[in-house]
Order: sequence, then structure tokens, then C-alpha cells
Amino acid sequence: MRALLRQALELLQFPLLLQSGWLSPWPFHTNSNVVQTSSDGLERQQAPSFDGDVGKSNIVTPVYLAIHLTYKCPASCSHCCFSSGPDVNDTIDVSTASRAIDEASLIKSIKMVGFTGGEPLLYPRELRVLISQAKEYGFQTRIVTSAAWAKNKRKANQILSSLKEAGLDEISLSYDDAHAEFISEESIVNCVRSAVDNGIPIALNVCVDESTEISGQSLRALFLNESIDISAVYIQETLINTTGRAREIDLDRTSDPRRLVGPCDHVLRGPTVNPFGRILPCCGTIPFYQGLQIGDMRNSTVVESISAAFEDPIINWIAFEGPAAIVECASKNTSNPQMAKDFDSNCEACAALFSRPEVLDNARRIAQQDKKKSLATQRLIYQLAGTYRAPEISSSIDEE
Ligand code: SF4
Ligand code: SF4
Repeated sequence: MRALLRQALELLQFPLLLQSGWLSPWPFHTNSNVVQTSSDGLERQQAPSFDGDVGKSNIVTPVYLAIHLTYKCPASCSHCCFSSGPDVNDTIDVSTASRAIDEASLIKSIKMVGFTGGEPLLYPRELRVLISQAKEYGFQTRIVTSAAWAKNKRKANQILSSLKEAGLDEISLSYDDAHAEFISEESIVNCVRSAVDNGIPIALNVCVDESTEISGQSLRALFLNESIDISAVYIQETLINTTGRAREIDLDRTSDPRRLVGPCDHVLRGPTVNPFGRILPCCGTIPFYQGLQIGDMRNSTVVESISAAFEDPIINWIAFEGPAAIVECASKNTSNPQMAKDFDSNCEACAALFSRPEVLDNARRIAQQDKKKSLATQRLIYQLAGTYRAPEISSSIDEE
């Protein structure tokens, strides 16, 4: 009872805590670098799905499981956060991917399973089997692809109709200046046309910066010119995340007003199993830092790992206030202090947090001491507001 009273008192102080900056204002705006405003006159269609759309979930709870089937890819885009390419051979063991889907079915809030890479369609047979399995559990299914395989209309149609038959619900396609070095415009047109013909909603993601030629607007014009019905095509522009290979690009976006740095709206909502069997708490744009790993399929389960991540103070801190705020706080007394304004995206800040052992140690200590009460209070407030829910687990697969 005393604890409840104390918690209620803390709640009453909420506005004061906000004013003092002790609490973050609200951890639920998008930070996924989606360009929010557009001067290109682009019509924004509704995104294909909401249930499993991590960036659109206003609740910190797992809704989407991503499986990175492979980091192998026919392309080697300059901005690739996974540094994928034809010579990369890291590919998940199909039985591990299958077990991840079985285990995700026990987490009631997960609505969608997405297969991504690298290029997941390098393994079409395995992809079909996994999509069918996910569908049997009632998940929505998505592939994230570059369309490198859609070299002609017949092939594109054959592949997509076969995936649709297996249970594919939607496609997320990427195309921009960096992709165009490796993927032909014709492949993109074939993929989009074939998705529309097969009734598969398709979202097209276009990475832009101030010097890029390909834009949402130019692709829209291309599809109209090809007489494609674009009412079922959702086109979205995003900014480049300077992680992975993109770190080699000389790009300073820190003064770009569109840059979004703040609470991470992917962490704890969209966990990932990567080709090494590592479990990450988010879409895994920085897959190679051990500190962000929440589990390993070799010795833990998806359920255990995600449940444990909800108890991890650093992961919660990333969800509530974002990695840039953490780095600013934890690097203050080091030889290289970094301010939140130094980062051009949340994932870049996360890479700094997890690649600097001293900063990570400081952050862990602060989260357990000075910041402990603030994090607990934020969690309580968001729980009471219904915007933070630890995963609810079914006791058996049969219960689903
Ligand atoms: S951005 Fe996509 S298409 Fe390009 S190399 Fe990376 S995984 Fe392949
Ligand atoms: S790398 Fe960090 S900021 Fe990026 S999605 Fe994952 S948790 Fe969020």
C-alpha cells in the first residue's frame, strides 16, 4: 500500500517533472527518419498495414518480428547499414528461423513477421516455407527486398504469385540513387507492376538527401508513365541512417531540420533475429554490436530474450528518451563528450553508445543509480497510460 501511495504521489508530480526536464515529454513520436513533410507534392497513400508496423505503434510492446534471412545481396549500396553484398555469406539456418516463428507465436502482441536481408529472395524456397509457417500461425507477412530478381515481367510475376500463394501479405521495396547503381529501373517497375497485379500491397522506401536525383516524386511519375495503378503503392521518403557502410559517406545531416533524434520507436516493438541467430531488440540497423544483443537462439528463446529486454534499464532508457540523450549524459566526463545534437539519427547515436565501452559502462551505472527512479516512474506512467506493455505470453503454442 505504501508503495502504491508513493507511486501515486510521483504521478501527481508528473507535470513538475516534465517542466524540470526530469522526464522525457513523451516517448512515442516517430524517430525512424521518415521525412515528415514534403515539398514535392507527393500524395501520401495509407501505409499497407498497421498491426505490425513498428513505426506506427504508439505502444511500447512487441508487434513485429523481423528475420534477417541473409546479409548476402546482389547489390552493395553505399548506404547499406548491414554492409551487405555479393561476397557476404552470412545466412540464417532455416531451422533457427522456423523456431523463431514458433516462439514468436507465443507472444500475443506480435502480429507480423517480416523477412529481410540482404536479399531474402536469394533463398526463394526457404522463404516460401517460412512465409507459410508464419501464415499458419495467423501472422501478417512481409518481405523487404531490392527487386534485383525482377529482371523481366514473367519472372517477377512467377515469383510474386508463388509467394502470394504461400501467404505473403505485403512487400517493402527500396529504391534510390544508391540502389540504382546495381538495380535497374526496369526491375523496380516489374516488381511494382507484378505486386499490383497480384493484389499485394507494396511500400516503396526512397532514401533521399539534398543531392539525390531519385525521389518519391520521380518514381511516382515513372509508375504513372508505365500505366501502373499507384493507388495501392505507398511511397515514402526517408533520410539515410549513417550506420554500417553509410558511415563512409561524407554526410553531415546534423543541421537538417528533418533529422529525428529522440525516443526510439523501434526498440522493444520490432525485435529481430539475425543471420547469426542473435536476437536484437529493434530492427537491427546496427547488428554487429554485442551490447545491443538481447539473446542468442543457440541458448535462449525469443520469448525469454524479449521479456528480459523489458527489464533492461538501458533498453528502456532508449525507448523513453533515446540513445542520443543517453550518450550525452554518459559521455559527459569522458575525453570525448558527445552531445545529442552531434548525431544525425538515433541509430548513429546507438552505434556510439554500444561501440564506446566507457560510455556504455557509465550509462549502465547511471541507469542503476541516478536515473533509476526516473526510469521506473516513466515506466509506471506509460504503463498506466496504456502505452507500455511488457509482452503477454501464451503458455503453449496450442493456446494460440
Ligand atoms: S541496402 Fe538493401 S539492396 Fe542495398 S546492399 Fe543493403 S541489403 Fe542490399
Ligand atoms: S539501433 Fe538503437 S536507435 Fe536504432 S532502432 Fe535499434 S535501438 Fe533504436
